[in-house]
Amino acid sequence: MTPLVCAHVMPPSHSLNASTLSFLLGGGEMGELFRSHPWEQTPLGTPDTWPQSLRTSLGFVLNSTLLGAVLWGPELLLLYNDAYREMLGDRHPEALGKPVADVWGETYAPIADDFARVMTTGKGFGSREIQLPMTRWGLRQTTYWNATASPIFGEDGSILGILNVAIETSEQVVANHARDERQKLLNRKNLSLAQAVDARTVERDKAIAEKLIAARDAERVQLALAAGAIVGTWSWDLTQDCFTIDEGFSESFGLENLNRLTDIPLAGIVANVHPNDLDGLTTAIKHAIIRGGAYAHQYRVRRQDGDYHWVEANGRVEHDADGTPLRFPGVILDLDEKRQLLAQRDQAIEELRALNAALEQRIEERTRELMQSEEALRQSQKMEAVGHLTGGLAHDFNNLLAGISGALDLISLRIEQGRIENLGKYVSTAQDAADRAAALTHRLLAFARRQTLLPVATDVNRLVLDMLDMIQRTVGPGIRVENVGAAGLWTVLVDRSQLENTLLNLCINARDAMPGGGRLTVETCNRWIDREMGKELSIPEGQYLSMCVSDNGSGMSPEVVAKAFDPFFTTKPLGAGTGLGLSMIYGFAKQSGGHVRIYSEVGEGTTVCIYLPRHSGTAVDHDDSAEALRLVPTDAGETVMIVDDEPSIRMLFADILQEMGYHVIQAADSLTGLSILQSDVRLDLLISDVGLPGGMNGRQMADAARTTRPDLKVLFVTGFAENAMLNEGHLEPGMAVLTKPFNIGILTERVRDLIAL
Ligand code: ADP
Ligand code: MG
Repeated sequence: MTPLVCAHVMPPSHSLNASTLSFLLGGGEMGELFRSHPWEQTPLGTPDTWPQSLRTSLGFVLNSTLLGAVLWGPELLLLYNDAYREMLGDRHPEALGKPVADVWGETYAPIADDFARVMTTGKGFGSREIQLPMTRWGLRQTTYWNATASPIFGEDGSILGILNVAIETSEQVVANHARDERQKLLNRKNLSLAQAVDARTVERDKAIAEKLIAARDAERVQLALAAGAIVGTWSWDLTQDCFTIDEGFSESFGLENLNRLTDIPLAGIVANVHPNDLDGLTTAIKHAIIRGGAYAHQYRVRRQDGDYHWVEANGRVEHDADGTPLRFPGVILDLDEKRQLLAQRDQAIEELRALNAALEQRIEERTRELMQSEEALRQSQKMEAVGHLTGGLAHDFNNLLAGISGALDLISLRIEQGRIENLGKYVSTAQDAADRAAALTHRLLAFARRQTLLPVATDVNRLVLDMLDMIQRTVGPGIRVENVGAAGLWTVLVDRSQLENTLLNLCINARDAMPGGGRLTVETCNRWIDREMGKELSIPEGQYLSMCVSDNGSGMSPEVVAKAFDPFFTTKPLGAGTGLGLSMIYGFAKQSGGHVRIYSEVGEGTTVCIYLPRHSGTAVDHDDSAEALRLVPTDAGETVMIVDDEPSIRMLFADILQEMGYHVIQAADSLTGLSILQSDVRLDLLISDVGLPGGMNGRQMADAARTTRPDLKVLFVTGFAENAMLNEGHLEPGMAVLTKPFNIGILTERVRDLIAL
């Protein structure tokens, strides 16, 4: 216990002699109160018993114009001066000598610890802008203070109390906050803020104005003014037509030259209102006076600097009991800032809208352009692949042709020499070379042709096998091509030529990744992807066939893998890659209900797998090559006409067909052909080349013949280039096409099928 607290047990003394109590001299009203206060009834005891340190500090406090108090003893009993009393409001005089915590209640709570710390550590503190909620004169407010608290030491060095000096800064702080807020809003001229200004300042200002007008409380007016948006106030005595305004109003209305703030008639007040706004204002005022109650109107006023600015007058007309208008007080809000922001907002919204519309249009255009160029690139990529092929093919073809003509030369030589015993060897050499050449052309044409794509049940192993030759030629001799086809591979429903295209593109990518040569593997497999594995591969569970192309080349970094399927993504030099290969493959896989995945490691190599859903049907047989040559004789005496400008082909056809038992008529051009067709010779079948001398092509000749022989059956024999003349392959019933070069087995089959129709 401190000595002070013991004081209350001392005998009370009423003899306050002037010399011992000189510290209580002066001190204004509080000084007087201290002198007359019944201290003996309090724990503090009479002042003559108070320790020197309390006397000294209290003398200082009472005679200070700053707001000051001594908080004494462990309970921090409150002893304060005149300025402090102001702040206490109706807590005074009860507060004198009471524990500070009891006096201030919730207001003290936030700073209680700080004060307690001064008592325990003996270290004072000073703080700026301490925020304290406070209820004064029945009004709840947030107040701000700059304050210091210093320990008061006893003679023995113990801490006996706190000297508390403070200045209230609420007014400045509120004004500064409002200013900062406005500054912030001005600085950040963006939409949301403009809206915030809209909502917040207007709402707040209106709310404040409402309250003001309702209460006419001087202090509340001060607070509202400090809050910022209100630039002036007025009070209009309607019975006398007499305005009282404040300086803010006077400045805002350019009325500084009036030199007074009272006794101004309405005419004087509105002198500087914008001429265009004056009528509206007058009417609004008139209505408000008649109606009574709340009034708000916006208009422009000229300041003394000559500039007009927007204000809002916000007030209330008060009537007496019998409805006579008495008073019309109100406030002026500055609208300029708000209007500017609103205008900016509107403009920004307008610009945004325009931008949006333009953007949509641009996107549409871009999409169209992109689709076009993507299509063009798709085509060029295909051509690029064809280009890769043709270089190798020309060379191979020359080899094959050399084989064929060499064998034929040898055959003629042997026949001249009469040595015909081993001719079969040369015939089969030539035949073999010709077969291979034919297969190659087929592939190439199928690949280059832009056709309507049709998914068919496909044997992928077979497709890969058929492509191997072309793949090897494309990747070159430096790369070893291996094929691992799973036995019992399931069937898939895909577009064959797209799958071929996919395979070739994967092989070209593999080749590009192995410039110094390497190993390329094409592997097929049945895969039952269960839920677990599906999760790992991000593929729905189910049965799939996988076709994987692996290389041991450069591999890809994860970044490249992530982008590899993007259209136009390529790491290859300009002109070398289109970046469309994998994106086309991706599209194709998706379209076929499948998926593609890349597994790759830099320096190790790459595997790209395409997963295609299993199809339940059996594969359509695409084997159109080796069928045994069977010339089964016919005995019905049917007649076939052959129209071809190439005598060797005519002769070949004639030999084969006669051997089959048909009568054969020959023609070398369309004119001769047509004249026979228009005669009444028996004709069961017309075999015709498409490109013909004689003014008509084969198709036109056949059409002409069909006017007199509507049931005439026609077999066109054509090279790929003439396809268009056959009306893109759309043939009438009873017509068929055989593509050169062909195999005799197929020819005989077609002829028999057609005649049997
Ligand atoms: P392009 O071959 O025209 O560059 P692709 O779409 O086929 O376009 O491939 C995109 C990119 O993916 C290639 O540029 C390459 O960086 C990478 N890539 C594709 N396949 C392989 C592979 N087998 N090995 C290494 N990188 C590859
Ligand atoms: Mg590619």
